[in-house]
Amino acid sequence: MADNKSILITGGAGFIGSNLCEYFLKKEYSVVCLDNFATGHKKNILPFLENKNFKLIEGDIRDRETCKNAVQNIDYVLHQAALGSVPRSIQDPLTTNEVNINGFLNMLVASRDSGVKRFVYAASSSTYGDSDSLPKIEDKIGKPLSPYAITKYVNELYAEIFSTTYGMETIGLRYFNVFGRKQDPKGAYAAVIPKFVMQLMQHESPIINGDGNYSRDFTYIDNVIQMNELAMLTENTKALNTIYNTAFGDRTTLNDLMKYLKLFLSDYDQKISEVNVLYGPNRVGDIPHSLASIEKAKEFLSYSPKYSFQEGLKEAVKWYWENLK
Ligand code: NAD
Repeated sequence: MADNKSILITGGAGFIGSNLCEYFLKKEYSVVCLDNFATGHKKNILPFLENKNFKLIEGDIRDRETCKNAVQNIDYVLHQAALGSVPRSIQDPLTTNEVNINGFLNMLVASRDSGVKRFVYAASSSTYGDSDSLPKIEDKIGKPLSPYAITKYVNELYAEIFSTTYGMETIGLRYFNVFGRKQDPKGAYAAVIPKFVMQLMQHESPIINGDGNYSRDFTYIDNVIQMNELAMLTENTKALNTIYNTAFGDRTTLNDLMKYLKLFLSDYDQKISEVNVLYGPNRVGDIPHSLASIEKAKEFLSYSPKYSFQEGLKEAVKWYWENLK
């Protein structure tokens, strides 16, 4: 039982945020979603609008009053709102900075002033920057490779200062390439898995940037939900005021990703196995390999990811087939 605790989920109409809303509503928490629909969608939260435990605030985290109002009577904040995507931040560093840094600071200040119990926020594996050590361990980071990466690192610095200076409880979750139901396949900045799934379903040739040997620690959404819940509720005081890799702890090349996508999608449409794959140039700001050590999360939060990459991918493919075909 949730004991009627209330959670504010910023970016709650987005991919990760809307999955968090759904999960915590099922657990009978009161959920407030703050979103300006910059990249999120009403359809992601439509089923919740009739739930008496759900409240939508349509607003912008760049507006301080909005943040102040949103945290009233809130126990926990799960801060997801941000402008994602490395290429978007290279295209428009100013807006990314305003939302991801000023907006973040607004939410921290509002949360401090209203005395929320804990502030859990979406950090990013992009903070590892040009460090080429594998697996990535939380306290060994390199130089940021994009404006987006800078913003996510600054978030971590601010959270730490708010913990030490004001005694706030914060936990940052460095997400590694999250995927799963409701991730947006459309738009110039779509993530690679939903984009490839949509293209394959339409028998269009997906384009892999580079030779396909770059690898990522693709992380299924349910593992990310588990981390948010553990971070929000942990009573281990040693687990607080720090950041955690949020990943499965394995890596898959883009070529293997494509192989599994074609394999799993072929169960629904045999012709997909024949779609050609094309190769293009590498993208600026992309690191060759990414793999998380999840030892810290295991030790301090008792994290135990339930979905491997392949298990998650099967679920995601099924969802896209049933919902977007
Ligand atoms: P998303 O774009 O689906 O969700 C972000 C949400 O924030 C959207 O609903 C958007 O409308 C909202 N938003 C953006 N600007 C806002 C503003 N000014 N005011 C209020 N709401 C605003 O992206 P996502 O993949 O769900 O990402 C959620 C969080 O996780 C982000 O902070 C992102 O940087 C971080 N993250 C995601 C990944 C990933 O692989 N998806 C990896 C690392 C970090």
